[in-house]
Amino acid sequence: MGLLEKLGSLFGSKTAGGADDAIHIYVECERCKAKVHVRLDRRHDISAREDGGYFVRKEVMDSKCFRLMAAEITFDSAYRIQGKECQGGRFLTQEEFDTPPRA
Ligand SMILES: [Zn+2]
Repeated sequence: MGLLEKLGSLFGSKTAGGADDAIHIYVECERCKAKVHVRLDRRHDISAREDGGYFVRKEVMDSKCFRLMAAEITFDSAYRIQGKECQGGRFLTQEEFDTPPRA
């Protein structure tokens, strides 16, 4: 699987029709492993970049150790992920997010 495909599957929209135009991301706190779902509103959370495309920087706090993580994602003009970084945590796929941790 190529990197772009991987990135795409992380943020692949399963909602056809566009009733909800938000972008959903999932991160895991690197310290306590709490999972956090973040909803990014295209109009409010995402800024346009000068060179076209979009950019978001979102501070995320988990509900376990309350550590602040900083997620930064860049998109192209079609809202496809171009790059992402999460300080203090790591990105999860929706699948990973939905899967409870193994006991
Ligand atoms: Zn935490």
